[in-house]
This record gives sequence, C-alpha cells and structure tokens, in this order.
Amino acid sequence: MKTLTKETKLTLLYITIAFVFSIALRMIWYYEFNGYEPFMFNNQLMINTNDGYYWAEGARDMLSGASQKNDLSPVSSAASLLTAFFAAILPFSFESIILFMPAVMSSLIVIPIILIAKNLNNLEMGFIAALLASIGHSYYNRTMIGYYDTDMLNIVLPMFLLWSIIWAVRTNEDKYLLITALDILVYRWWYPQSYSLEFAFFGLILLYALVWDRKNFYNYKLLAIMLFAMMDIDILVRFIFVIASFFIFKQERFNKYIYHILAASIVLFFASGGFNPIWGQLKGYVLRDSVTAVQDGMGLHFYSVLQTVREAGHISFETFASRISGHIITFIAAVAGYIYLVYRYKVMLLGLPLIGLGFLAYVGGLRFTIYAVPVLAFGVAFLITEIARVLPTKKLKYLSMLAFTLMILYPNIMHIKEYKVPTVFNADEVSVLDKLKNIADREDYVVAWWDYGYPIRYYSDVKTLVDGGKHSGAVNFPVSFMLSNPQDVAAKLARLDVEYTERAFKIAEENRDKNLTLFSNIEEMTKDYGFKDTNDFLLSLEGDVKLPQKTRDIYFYLPYRMTNIYSTVATFSNIDLMNAEMGKDALFYMSNNFKQDKNIVNLGNNISFDMQNATVSIGKNVVPVKRFVQTAYDKDMKLVKKIDTINESAPISIIYMSNYNAFLVLDETSYSSLYVQLMVLEEYDRGLFEEVILSPHAKVYRLKI
Ligand code: MN
Repeated sequence: MKTLTKETKLTLLYITIAFVFSIALRMIWYYEFNGYEPFMFNNQLMINTNDGYYWAEGARDMLSGASQKNDLSPVSSAASLLTAFFAAILPFSFESIILFMPAVMSSLIVIPIILIAKNLNNLEMGFIAALLASIGHSYYNRTMIGYYDTDMLNIVLPMFLLWSIIWAVRTNEDKYLLITALDILVYRWWYPQSYSLEFAFFGLILLYALVWDRKNFYNYKLLAIMLFAMMDIDILVRFIFVIASFFIFKQERFNKYIYHILAASIVLFFASGGFNPIWGQLKGYVLRDSVTAVQDGMGLHFYSVLQTVREAGHISFETFASRISGHIITFIAAVAGYIYLVYRYKVMLLGLPLIGLGFLAYVGGLRFTIYAVPVLAFGVAFLITEIARVLPTKKLKYLSMLAFTLMILYPNIMHIKEYKVPTVFNADEVSVLDKLKNIADREDYVVAWWDYGYPIRYYSDVKTLVDGGKHSGAVNFPVSFMLSNPQDVAAKLARLDVEYTERAFKIAEENRDKNLTLFSNIEEMTKDYGFKDTNDFLLSLEGDVKLPQKTRDIYFYLPYRMTNIYSTVATFSNIDLMNAEMGKDALFYMSNNFKQDKNIVNLGNNISFDMQNATVSIGKNVVPVKRFVQTAYDKDMKLVKKIDTINESAPISIIYMSNYNAFLVLDETSYSSLYVQLMVLEEYDRGLFEEVILSPHAKVYRLKI
C-alpha cells in the first residue's frame, strides 16, 4: 500500500475535525431537549419538521413492505430509500435514524469544501470555510438534528458537483468526467428539482470553455457527458449513456468524433424533454399565479394556499446577510473575499450558480439563502488566509487565523444555542395517533387540516384527504367546510369527499393513457346531484341526501392546537366557489393572555367581557352574550362543562376553557362548527359520530354514516 503523502494526511485530518465539529455543534439541540417528555416518542426525541413525516412514512412502508395503492406514501423516493437502507443495516431505532440522519448527511459538506481548497493549494482556507459553512446560520436551521428533509443533501450534492467540475476544468483528468456525470445522476435522483442548478453549472462551463479554452477537447467531453446525465429519461438509460460516453472519451482515437457526440447529446437532451422543466420554470416566473385558481368545467374559484403561506415576504438585508454568513460584517467580508478569490482563481466563478440561487432569497423566500452559505464561506476564509500570509512569523500567522476563525464562527454558534425549535407534535398528541393506529385500518381515512396530514399518516398508518404536499384550494375546500360547519352537513360531506377521492383515484388509473381532466370532488358532486350551482348543492346537504356506498371508516382528528389556526382553516371554505366572493369572516377569537379587573375580563385586542352585564365589547361595539360556557377536565381527564344560556337572541358566546387557561369569543357560526362542538365541547350527535379517543390535546371521533 502506498503511504499517504503529508498533504493527504492533513486533508483527511481537516475533514475529520470539521466533520466532528459540525456534528458536535448540532448536539447542542439534542442535549437541550433530550429527556424532555413532551418531545419524546419511543424513548427518542421526535423530529422537528413536518415534511419529514412524509419521507418517514415512505421508509416505514418500504421496510414493512406494506405499500398500498393511492396512499400517497413516497415508497420510491430517494430520501425514503436511503432512510430504509440505514434502518435496515444500522443497530439504531427508526426514530433515532430519522432524528440523526440530517446531522450526519449534512456534515458531509465539509468534504467537497476542503477538497476544492486542496485544488487551489490552500487547505487552511478549506478548513476554515468548512467550519463556517457546516454551521452557517441558515444551513444549520435546515440541517439540524431532527430537521429530517431532503435539505440534508440538497447543498452537499451540488457542492460535490462544484468540486468535480472545478477539478475537471483544472486537471482535465478523465475520471472527473465520470464523477461529474454520476453526481448529476445522484443529485437528480435525490432532488428532482435540481435541474436548474445543473443547467446553470453547464452554462458556466460552456461560457468558460468558449471564452478561455476553446481548443480543448476535454471541455466538450465534459459538456456532452453532463447533457447525457441531464436528459429527461429513466435514470438507468442515462447511466448507460454516461458509462458508454465515458469509455469513448477515454480513448484518444475517438477525439475526432467529439463534435458529433456533443451534437448528439444536445439533440437527445432536447428531444428527451430535458429542457422542459427549465422552460416551465422560466414561464412560471413570467406568469405569476393569480389570486384564485380557476379550472375548466364549471370554472370554480378556490381559495389558494399561496394566499396564506407567504414565505416570500420582505426580508431585511441584515436577516439575509446573517442567514448566509452569521453576521452582516462576515457577509460583507465574504462577498469581498469571494470577488478577490475569483480574481485570483477564475475557476471559482463556477460557484456563481449557488450564490445566485442564495440571492434569490430576496424574491423567492428565506429558504434559498442556504445555497449561498458554502461558496461565500470560501470568500471570508480566503481573506483570513490572505491576511495570515502577509504576517511575518509562523506563530502570528496561526494566531491570526485562529482569532479570525473564532470571530466568524461566534455569531453562528450563538444562533445555534438560541435556536430552540420544538418538535412537530407533542408526546400526548402522538400517543393519541399511536392508539388510533391500532383502531383504524390502513385504508381508513382521517379528516384533519393539511398541517397534520403527514404526521397522522406516519403515526397512525391511515389515509388523509390533505397533507403538506396535497393542499390546493380544491382539496382544502371540503376539509375546511367540514371543520367549520355544523356536524350534520360536515358528516355528510366527509362521506362524500372520501368516496369521491377514492373514485377519482380509480378513474385516473383507468384512464392513465388518456389525457383526462379530473375536476374537483366538489364539482363532481354538484353535477352528480343534479345542480348547476355549488352553493345549491352545499345547501342541499342540510336536507336528506342519498350518500354514496360506504367503503371504509372515516375518523376526525381534532387537536387542541388547531384553535390557533381555526380562522385560517375556515377561510378556505368561506368563499363562493361560483364567483370567488369571500364571505364575511366568522368571529373566532382566542385569548391566552387576559386580565381580570373586577367584573371586566380584558381579553386583549380591544376585546373585553363584562361578567356582570353579560356583554362583550369589541372595539366600540357592546354586544350582549348568548351563552357563557366553562369547561374543565376532572381527575379522570373527562371533560366537564357548564353552559349558562343568558340571552337566547344574543349573537355571541364566550367559552372559558379553564385547563387551557384560554377564552374563546365566538359568533353562532363558529360556535356551531364541528370543531368547536366536538373538540371544545364534546357535544356530538350520537347518530353521526362516536367517540374514539378523547384527550385534552386531541380528540378522535369515528363517523357512523
Ligand atoms: Mn399507508
């Protein structure tokens, strides 16, 4: 065996230290909460990102082999497959694997960073950049322990790609052709939306080749093999193309065909549709989503999630800078350092697509900043090593590097210490779902708001109508309607929506080859029941309706935490689907922060309750109170309630939920909603529902119709 060179040993040492450093800092969150019962399940901390439950469901199903049709479980996804693989070979619990996977995978980012620096003969720069990038503010947020999502490799893989194209361009060694192409295959497999970055890298290499290195065959080989890897066909076919072209490129005698092969790769790339997603994205930027989505057929107007999830918003320069580098000064130094680095090594221009994507945060939302973290870390690390270079003694060089490195790390470490995100669900909610798993069948449906879809499916192994990926206005509408309307219409719509959802799966499957437009369930129901107006159909639910054949059970999952978003939930069905007119908001006000002053309870937001006169003041309006309700849980955790009807014709009710230390101020619409009746008051119609699990954190009912 060859003995390792001193440089190789140092490279390995730096990689090891940076990797351990990255994991060690992530352990801060773990030790902060480990053992805190509300965050634990199966003797392990739970994950802290909602979407993680999606990949976890896929991995669970892969391991058990229990994959069902139309359960929306991502059994063939890369993230689930990798998780299942680790769970199968490692001696840790599934809960531990999904908890720690992000920390371990994301820390791999130190490898390409240090290897890129090795190519520039500046290992110290790589080491410093690796320390900073691995724990950089926004990179940490999306790769911390428990942040189980594709983010764990979404920056690592393009950084490996950057490493291999830098080495390709600088060394012209054949092996980097293969590594680059394989990295594209893996990256695309892991994250199908990776095409924009791949294409940006491709464009820069093309530019680089045309401007500086036109006569070099190697560049055209690199471009051709990248295009083969980026075609829009099955990964196996692309793999074969990549391997075949690699063996051709390795042989000098085929050099005279390189332009033919490049031309063929361009034709195949376009012909296979490789450019379509990029074109689609460009079009998407030009034609921004309109306020309400209209589809063909009846042309119903649904309320769109985009209207509530406004991640984009305006972010300040300071937020932007500190999310990328930890501090505004570090950020400015990093940008200056990067420009200087590019001036010295123009190959570092290849990092521009990552910086560009990071800067998209200004228009596209905070989540983009992570892309800029590693490349800009090179910038500030380069400045630090350049300062050290001009210092006179070795001792001074190392002292200055140490001091500056600690300075740039400090704000990021402080951020980690203060970033105490909770788990997605608490232990009580999960224990409800865990019990439900043994009650409900795999094919049964659980009705709940989309925020809870993935965790419900993971813990209870059931089906859901909506989830973190399926929450368009059309599918949210019926769920919102069920939760915010009286229980009899809600019950009927639940049966209808579940059966229509299953029917739509079947129709889609039977017509897979035809280009069939599927309309929303609510539109199909309206037409099937002989109405031309959805409002008339919805109104008809109040009377006798012949419901479709029952094929499975339906459960309602009603968590207490939904009180915080009830108004938003209700908005999705408070729209006239025929003309997009929004209805008047129902009153649903919750106060956790109230003060009593004699007979007046001040509920905040200019709302107060006069106990003596039984009136509520909302701003300048004084309104009489219809009922005053007080709820509490007895020592067996059974709900006890006292309802005082004060004024039968008054419009507003007050509920004091003593154990939650919260007041609700409701109009009659909110008071009679399924959510308030079944979750807050446990007032359910015995003909329609039966109780399954009642805990103060979450209540589950089974539909009887
Ligand atoms: Mn399932």
